[in-house]
Amino acid sequence: MQVVLPGDAVICATGSHPAPSPIPGADNPIVVDALDVLDRAVTVPKRVVVIGGGMVGTETALHLAENGHQVWVVEMLPQIMSDVAVTDLLSYLERIAKTDLETLTSTTVAAISDTGVEVVTPNGLRRIEADQVIMATGFRSDRSLYDALVEAGQEAYLVGDAVNPGKIMDAFHTAYRLGLTV
Ligand SMILES: Cc1cc2nc3c(=O)[nH]c(=O)nc-3n(C[C@H](O)[C@H](O)[C@H](O)COP(=O)(O)OP(=O)(O)OC[C@H]3O[C@@H](n4cnc5c(N)ncnc54)[C@H](O)[C@@H]3O)c2cc1C
Repeated sequence: MQVVLPGDAVICATGSHPAPSPIPGADNPIVVDALDVLDRAVTVPKRVVVIGGGMVGTETALHLAENGHQVWVVEMLPQIMSDVAVTDLLSYLERIAKTDLETLTSTTVAAISDTGVEVVTPNGLRRIEADQVIMATGFRSDRSLYDALVEAGQEAYLVGDAVNPGKIMDAFHTAYRLGLTV
């Protein structure tokens, strides 16, 4: 049922979705998204490669490593979790040190196959055998509702991850700033 609500303007806080990955083999059946793992929508096997060592990928990998999985995190930047405060990073590194989690930094994934991933490390090519590959390579803003409203001539605004995928405080700030002007 479609209900039309009265209003002069619409504020779209429609969030974001996992961004599609251009890595060859990203559509392989062994690939799942980190959000599906965190939502427990999939049963994760023993050997797992997590692609993306930001906050979402590292938290997912650490959760799995602390629960008996053999986990590798592949991150193209020189450091994992470059998107968190240094105090948080230190506490995550302490937890990681108590597990067998292997982090490969300055490393990119070249291809995904049925049996694992090919990575390019600073020391050359390496193959990692795995039963599952978990994508945590970032998010893309969901602006579809906003675009449709603007197209229809409706006054509309974006806040939060729908502007740029970020953190909760970023979402608060965009909403606060808009609230001062709308
Ligand atoms: C796994 C994970 C861990 C995170 N951890 C942290 C953290 O520790 N600290 C931190 O600061 N940030 C964290 N973030 C980021 C934080 O969650 C987001 O920045 C924040 O939730 C953005 O808020 P939002 O309201 O813009 O979007 P969202 O929280 O994504 O909310 C958007 C909502 O809009 C709904 N929606 C979309 N389209 C429609 C529609 N057409 N009609 C009705 N409803 C619709 C969606 O279902 C969703 O519920 C994390 C994100 C993820 C994915």
